Amino acid sequence: MSQLQTVKMETRTTSQAKKDVILEVRNLKKHFILGKNQVVQAVDGVSFDVYRGETLGLVGESGCGKSTIGRTLIRLYNATSGSVKFDGKDIYSLKGKELKKFNQKMQMIFQDPYASLNPRMTVMDIIAEGIDIHGLAKGEERRRRVIELLETVGLNEEHADRFPHEFSGGQRQRIGIARALAVEPDFIIADEPISALDVSIQAQVVNLMKRLQRERGLTYLFIAHDLSMVKYISDRVGVMYLGNLVELAESDELYDNPLHPYTEALLSAVPIPDPETARTRERIILEGDVPSPINPPSGCRFRTRCPKAMDICSQVVPTWQEAAPNHWVACHLYNDEAKRES
Ligand code: SF4
Repeated sequence: MSQLQTVKMETRTTSQAKKDVILEVRNLKKHFILGKNQVVQAVDGVSFDVYRGETLGLVGESGCGKSTIGRTLIRLYNATSGSVKFDGKDIYSLKGKELKKFNQKMQMIFQDPYASLNPRMTVMDIIAEGIDIHGLAKGEERRRRVIELLETVGLNEEHADRFPHEFSGGQRQRIGIARALAVEPDFIIADEPISALDVSIQAQVVNLMKRLQRERGLTYLFIAHDLSMVKYISDRVGVMYLGNLVELAESDELYDNPLHPYTEALLSAVPIPDPETARTRERIILEGDVPSPINPPSGCRFRTRCPKAMDICSQVVPTWQEAAPNHWVACHLYNDEAKRES
C-alpha cells in the first residue's frame, strides 16, 4: 500500500471511529505460484473494514478474487502479505487457544452445499462436528442443540439421522447454515451461498440468513456475483475487479450513484422491474475479456476495457480514496491532481 493510501485509510478509520470494526483488512495480497516465474495475483492489495452486525457484500465477475479473499480471511489460505485483524487481533499470528477461539467465532458457508457436506456422515454428526471440536455439549444436550438448530433453519428432528444425498439443494444449504451456527459464531463468510440453488429457493435462504442475523447479531461477508441479491441483503457493497477492490459504498448509494466505470457497467446489466426507469438506462457493454491475473495491465487494471480511460490510467495505479462521505473508489476520474497531470 502506498503511503498516501495508508494515510487515507487511517483518515477513514478516524472519521468512522464510532462504528465498531470487527474485521480490519489492510493491503491484503494472495498470490499463487504457478510453475516457473508465473505468479497469479488473485488478490493484490485490498483494504476494507467490516462493522459488527452489518452485511458487507463483495461482488465481481468470476475470477476477480472475491472467493480468494473469503478463504484467506478464514485462513484456508495463508496471505502473501498484508494484515487482517479480527476483534483487534492479527489472525495470522494467532496460536493455541486464541486460534481455536478464532476458528469458532469465524465460520464459512460454501457455494456448493453438496460438496461441502460429508456424504458418509448423518446430518446429526455433520452439525455436531463443531460442537464436539469446541467441547460445547455432550450426550443428550448435544442432540438437543442439533435439533434446535435444525428447527432454526426450517428443518426438523426427523432430518437428523438422514444423509446429505436425501435432501434438496436448498435443504442442504440450510444444513450448511446450521453447521456454521452450531459453534455460535460472530462472523460468517458466505461464499456464493445461493448460486447453486434454484431461483425460487434463493430468496428463502437469503431471508433465513437475514432473520438469523437479526436474532443472533451476526456479521456477514456475503460474496456473490448476483448484484440484485447482494443489494437486498447488504448494508454496504464492495466491487472487485481482477484482484483489486475498485469501489465500496453503502448499498443504496452504490446502486444509485456508482462512480467507478466498472461498477456502472455491472449495474447497467441488472434488470430493472420498473419499465419507465429501464427505458432510460443505457446498457454498457464492456469490450474484450478480463485480462489474466498472471500478467495484469499496468496502472489501472480496468484500463483495457474502460470506456473512460485516459493517458494516466496506463501509467499510474489509482489511489483508494473517499470521493464522497463513506463512498470509496479507485479511479483517476475522481483524483483532480492526477487528471491535471494527465
Ligand atoms: Fe477507467 Fe482510468 Fe478510472 Fe481505470 S482509472 S476506471 S481506466 S478512468
